[in-house]
Amino acid sequence: MSRIFSGIQPSGELHIGNYLGAVKNWVQLQDRYECIYCIVDYHAITGSYEPDDLRRRTRDMAVSLLAAGLDPEKCTLFVQSMVPEHTELAWILNTVTPLGELERQTQFKDKASRQESVPAGLLNYPVLQAADILLYRADLVPVGEDQVQHLELSREIARRWNAKFGVELFPEPQPLLTPARRIVGLDGQAKMSKSLGNTVGVLEEPDAIWQKLRPAVTDPARVRRTDPGTPEICNIYHLHQAFSDPPTVEHVAHMCRTAGWGCIECKRVLFESMMRELTPIRERAAELRAHPERIDEVLHAGAEHCRAMAQETMAAVKEHMGLDLAPVPPLGRAGV
Ligand code: ATP
Ligand code: MG
Repeated sequence: MSRIFSGIQPSGELHIGNYLGAVKNWVQLQDRYECIYCIVDYHAITGSYEPDDLRRRTRDMAVSLLAAGLDPEKCTLFVQSMVPEHTELAWILNTVTPLGELERQTQFKDKASRQESVPAGLLNYPVLQAADILLYRADLVPVGEDQVQHLELSREIARRWNAKFGVELFPEPQPLLTPARRIVGLDGQAKMSKSLGNTVGVLEEPDAIWQKLRPAVTDPARVRRTDPGTPEICNIYHLHQAFSDPPTVEHVAHMCRTAGWGCIECKRVLFESMMRELTPIRERAAELRAHPERIDEVLHAGAEHCRAMAQETMAAVKEHMGLDLAPVPPLGRAGV
């Protein structure tokens, strides 16, 4: 059976971009594959953050993912820093990663341009990501479109390591994309991102979501209520495609093209479709929050399971690299 690995940063709340581009797929895949899902806190520390916030967001992310439908009976969920082998393998993979490839990653250039002082961790982020995936020798990685370039680099890193040490230890991981692979923020400007603050949270209260939807950018050609629009260039239409049923999507397109209704009516219908999908998630999250000890249990069991797999891979990696001498005796014993 193919093995799936994917991760999400606790760098903010789970938003509808993450949900539609990745997490909804994670839920479906857990019935068909061996799935490992990780809250990647070592990735999240490459941006600025407060330790207390990180702690809270990590737990909140676990709640959101379980509420969205991850089932610990069917998949493994854990926190990256609970399995230190991720960083150990990342160091090793750094030694076969070409610097030029890291420098040309779009996400690096984009995120670095928003920071005054760029930490080396931001540059090396895709190496840690390669380590996350290769540690479990995963074949498939369900992600949004923004991660496709990083995955291409993961494949190159796997190829280089395999070639250098003459063994096919690491499979080349392939991305799995959804139809909603790139959700744009409601300002219509950039990809919806936790770090850009242009998100609609999966767990947000209905009122708050409506307050964000109401002023959201639509087809700029629809200045007056009577101007016909082009649904294909409208972000609200794209969200309909993700949240509304096919007859509604068809109706929405028709009403937009014929100026049969104004954008606000279109948004009302979208809001209803969104609520149909998000309300049960919000309710499940409230139930889960009432039992924080259960969340910790899930994460600990997940980490234990993953550590065993990670240690197996690391033993093989070290053996092939000549890093497998017997451990040195404890200090003070030598020479006695
Ligand atoms: P950050 O801004 O901190 O990078 P993010 O919102 O990009 O946060 P990540 O944790 O980096 O979220 O990514 C988690 C998953 O969500 C990845 O698979 C990523 O490809 C996917 N994803 C993120 N943003 C979008 C989006 N706007 N549309 C579709 N998928 C997305
Ligand atoms: Mg991101």
